[in-house]
Amino acid sequence: MQEALLCPSSQPGFEECRVLGVVQPGENGGAPEVAYLNQHLPVTREVLDLAAPAQPTEVFRLAAQCQSDKCPHFDGADCRLATRIVQILPAVVSTLPACGIRHDCRWFRQEGAAACHRCPQIVTVNYNVSETMREVVGVESFSCGSHAAGTGLTIGE
Ligand code: SF4
Repeated sequence: MQEALLCPSSQPGFEECRVLGVVQPGENGGAPEVAYLNQHLPVTREVLDLAAPAQPTEVFRLAAQCQSDKCPHFDGADCRLATRIVQILPAVVSTLPACGIRHDCRWFRQEGAAACHRCPQIVTVNYNVSETMREVVGVESFSCGSHAAGTGLTIGE
């Protein structure tokens, strides 16, 4: 049986869902950056409503139980999204962000510090993505939002 790990870019409604961080708009039109919470904040309806009129996953990074085989990014062994993030995106920080899930994070468990150095630039639902980010999202996940798991990254329409 596989160890239960947490996906650091998840959706409301999955087991153990909590707010990992809040997406801060980039300065001077730059890329957004996640500010990680230093406390455990379970996701509730009231918390999600704070994002209105935006979708919660535009405003929050949510962590919840990795959906493994139910997620389009999982290949049976690895999270391919985490692999592409490390292979394609530049590092945006040089130290490990003070997130609250490192011990159980699938991306960290799989890719180590390289995932953490790229993690703050990830926005789960993004309506304004670069070509590079489209490559990271991957073709198979363009329908991710309607997928049963719906974790990882979704390009808004
Ligand atoms: S900073 Fe690292 S350990 Fe924390 S959520 Fe991101 S990838 Fe996971």
